[in-house]
Amino acid sequence: MYSKILILRFSAVEAKKPIVCHLERDYDLTFNILKATIFPRQEGMLVMELVGPRKNFKEGVQYLKAQGVQVQYASQEVKRNQRRCTHCGACTAVCPTGALFVKRPEMKVRFEQKKCSVCELCLPACPTRAMEIRPIQQTFF
Ligand code: SF4
Ligand code: SF4
Repeated sequence: MYSKILILRFSAVEAKKPIVCHLERDYDLTFNILKATIFPRQEGMLVMELVGPRKNFKEGVQYLKAQGVQVQYASQEVKRNQRRCTHCGACTAVCPTGALFVKRPEMKVRFEQKKCSVCELCLPACPTRAMEIRPIQQTFF
């Protein structure tokens, strides 16, 4: 199975269409929406994890692009600024994937980037603003 976190940007017109549903129905892909935003002019942005066979994945992304959706992928969007982290543990309480966890017995907070779904819940939870978004984005395919 192939899996990537994608960032989709829709125009105001595309944002009203059920384009993403076709990924499941027509391409046998599963998706997990991590963040959905509608901007003031009704353009949309969706961050989602897309999973499926590589061939279907590629075809699904091509379908999105044919619909006028801008497709980018982000592999390591959230980073921890080690110098700012005080290991207070506040972020571990909100992290839904276990990417942030307390390592025992030293009681240090660890960050496993591979598990991060880029949900951004840790950003406001961190009192020292150690968790930062630094998007590495590239046009896909
Ligand atoms: S909330 Fe911030 S300072 Fe506290 S452990 Fe997490 S990243 Fe470090
Ligand atoms: S962005 Fe979400 S998944 Fe990633 S470390 Fe922060 S809370 Fe965990």
